[in-house]
Amino acid sequence: MQTQFNNPFYQLSLHRYPFNNNQKLQAWDASDEYMLEHLANKEKFLSNGRVLIFNDTFGALSLALQDYNPCVITDSYISKQGIIYNAKHNNIDLEKITIYDSLTELNTSYDLVLIKTPKTLDYLRYFLAKIRPYLHEKSQLIIAGMIKSTPKTVWKILEEMLGETNTSLAKKKARLIFVKPEKDNTDTPFPIHFIQEKTNYKIYSHANVFSKKSMDIGSRFLLQNLPTLNHIKTIVDLGCGNGIVGLNLAAIYPQATVIFTDESYMAIASARLTVMSNLDSVEKHQFNIDNCLDGIESHSIDLIVCNPPFHQSYSIGSHIALQMFQQSFKALKKGGHLIVIANRHLPYHTHLKRIFGKVENLAGNNKFSIFNMVK
Ligand code: SAM
Repeated sequence: MQTQFNNPFYQLSLHRYPFNNNQKLQAWDASDEYMLEHLANKEKFLSNGRVLIFNDTFGALSLALQDYNPCVITDSYISKQGIIYNAKHNNIDLEKITIYDSLTELNTSYDLVLIKTPKTLDYLRYFLAKIRPYLHEKSQLIIAGMIKSTPKTVWKILEEMLGETNTSLAKKKARLIFVKPEKDNTDTPFPIHFIQEKTNYKIYSHANVFSKKSMDIGSRFLLQNLPTLNHIKTIVDLGCGNGIVGLNLAAIYPQATVIFTDESYMAIASARLTVMSNLDSVEKHQFNIDNCLDGIESHSIDLIVCNPPFHQSYSIGSHIALQMFQQSFKALKKGGHLIVIANRHLPYHTHLKRIFGKVENLAGNNKFSIFNMVK
């Protein structure tokens, strides 16, 4: 796998995070290359302005543009750790780059805003509303994306929120879109909420959170088929999203502490809001921004429940789910349970059997299987 990232600013060696020797995917794409080639002869503009980068995945843009002291906004703890890892790996002084999470309040204006198209278009809309008060009439926004991940809706959103767009020619299946702020659209509905069916629970979600507008069909099937277990004191809602699964677990096991964990800052903020709006006992629960279960002590948990992701950025793979299963085995006490809901087409049963020795099929339908493993 290629790690040498050639670009007109700095030669960098870039890895995805978490670092994995078997990783076949590289840490940047052709739209990063295209963006940097475009900026290469705009040195004067870069030097005189404040640069903001939205959604840089593993540092391709921010580390190449280190001399302009960019500020990066990301919703991903993994991306943040990736940028830090790659900065250290390339001997780059981290003081040159400021990393904000997606919900940080901004307080200064920006001249150049570089955007990597996010997967969730509500999140793009949210960001454009948030950044608008910090743009002036000469600020320029450049959006970079692979053609396959830049649907027509992206242009629609940009024109609706900011103004007329210009588009580059396609190069290596990547495109750049240019837009200047003409309109003054700062409206955002987020965080939003829905009422969980057959309950009074209000489920809150920020813009970049999974299944924001209604309960996911997988989560519904999972909640309908949870077994009743004894002696449950510590629970992890692994990949908690808006916290819907953990909230229901906290109600089923009122004596237990639930640890909500996710790599998305917006997910953790949403889960906290969800719990605060529905339970009196918010202080006894924990809200951890983390990569899988990195921060959880071994042999400390009675029950882990997980509706795993199978995407990292645009790349599809099961390596995160696998890491979640392996770390769950470590984190569970002896006799503790891992309950996983999986799309039927994913080969999770084999992995879980290898790790836990035995897999009980709790329930299944034409789309999903629910597995129960005991350590
Ligand atoms: N539990 C929620 C539900 O059922 O609605 C969300 C499930 S969603 C399929 C998977 C979640 O895993 C997302 O919220 C995503 O942000 C989170 N996730 C992805 N990679 C992760 C990682 N490395 N560590 C922790 N959480 C992760």
